[in-house]
Amino acid sequence: MTEFLLTGGRVLDATGERAADVRVVDGAIAEVGPGLSASAGATVLDAEGCVVTPGLVDIQVHFREPGREESETIATGSRAAALGGCTAVVCMPNTEPPLDDAAVVQAVIARARREAHCAVLPAGCITKGRKGEELAPMGELYDLGVRIFTDDGDCVADAGVMRRAFEYASALPDAVIAQHAEDPALVRGGHMHEGAWSSRLGVPGRPAEAESSIVARDLQLAKRTGGRYHVLHMSCAASADLVRAAKAEGVRVTAECTPQHLVLTDESCAGYDPSFKMNPPLREQADVDGLRAALLDGTIDAIATDHAPHAPETKDVPFEEAPPGMLGVETALAVVLTTLVEPGILTLAQALAALSWNPARIGGFAEHGSPLTANRAANLCVIDPAHQWVVEGNRLASRSRNTPWEGWKLTGKVRHTIYSGVPTVRDFDVQEIW
Ligand SMILES: [Zn+2]
Repeated sequence: MTEFLLTGGRVLDATGERAADVRVVDGAIAEVGPGLSASAGATVLDAEGCVVTPGLVDIQVHFREPGREESETIATGSRAAALGGCTAVVCMPNTEPPLDDAAVVQAVIARARREAHCAVLPAGCITKGRKGEELAPMGELYDLGVRIFTDDGDCVADAGVMRRAFEYASALPDAVIAQHAEDPALVRGGHMHEGAWSSRLGVPGRPAEAESSIVARDLQLAKRTGGRYHVLHMSCAASADLVRAAKAEGVRVTAECTPQHLVLTDESCAGYDPSFKMNPPLREQADVDGLRAALLDGTIDAIATDHAPHAPETKDVPFEEAPPGMLGVETALAVVLTTLVEPGILTLAQALAALSWNPARIGGFAEHGSPLTANRAANLCVIDPAHQWVVEGNRLASRSRNTPWEGWKLTGKVRHTIYSGVPTVRDFDVQEIW
């Protein structure tokens, strides 16, 4: 029997908050309550002054495997995720080869079972080769456990293909069509948000309408077909307004946004630093404000990172030549605590809903994000809300360093992460579990 006792913390889950210890036995939560005493041979994990919560769930990460292992692997990415408090992630299918085929998806699942520090569920492609033309064998991928389908990295631009994807997915319970909403015809050749800063910097832009026009079209297709739609990394206020109205009409839609889109603006690109380049791009303050309002009123369900590692040699080039994307999985919680919870914009419970139980529901993770009660799988995260630290790209667990938060002083860090009853992070350090 393996027993861990988390002592002295405050438990916070979807049912509320209370002072309680948590006993974990053989992978499952055995008991939650005040003043529990450790059995002989149990390992005590101190949670004094900490918040004990369901493990975080990041439904949009790029772990680059197979094909770009010099940037990240399932092993390194999941270690970073565990350090960020995650017990489950959904990895995007724009790998090389892409995850459009049962054998490739099966190989990723098998590798994750052998090497990952958290649950790793691949998303499957909507179309073969991510070419946007012919549907991938979604049913076969679904049978392997895939629930999120997306051509992320690219938008499914063809409305007919998108309509067929919705129709096909409607027959698969809990399957969701997730869109990287950027109309390629409007963003071609663009490298940052189109606005005052792109004009001043002389960098070709990617207009906000590239996103909102695709979201508007997809919402109509979702409504017509009854399919489930998810907006990946929503970046502008206009898209949030569309999703808000669609939800009010009963359309089956969910949305996520990233910490960077909730905090940074296009002004960050003023130094031409490729660490601030991503698709969709960082937008204007009015969009940041609109996204925050949408998160508060439930229009945006989840915060996901779009963790996109790029090896230093590929990012260490001029802004316009650099690939888009930034690291996020290890810093997301701390950035949200520091920039949104500490100033009183979000409550801690609202932040954790967006980082854990809402994305767990969207991603179809039955064993993550659930309230802490006996007999549930022990997927937990223990947060020290007072711990101060400075982000240094070189010291992050990712194989890459392209963080937009370099040098930021953050308050709040994950002290312990428990994945399937096993500590993957203990006292701020990643544990060797394999
Ligand atoms: Zn994307």
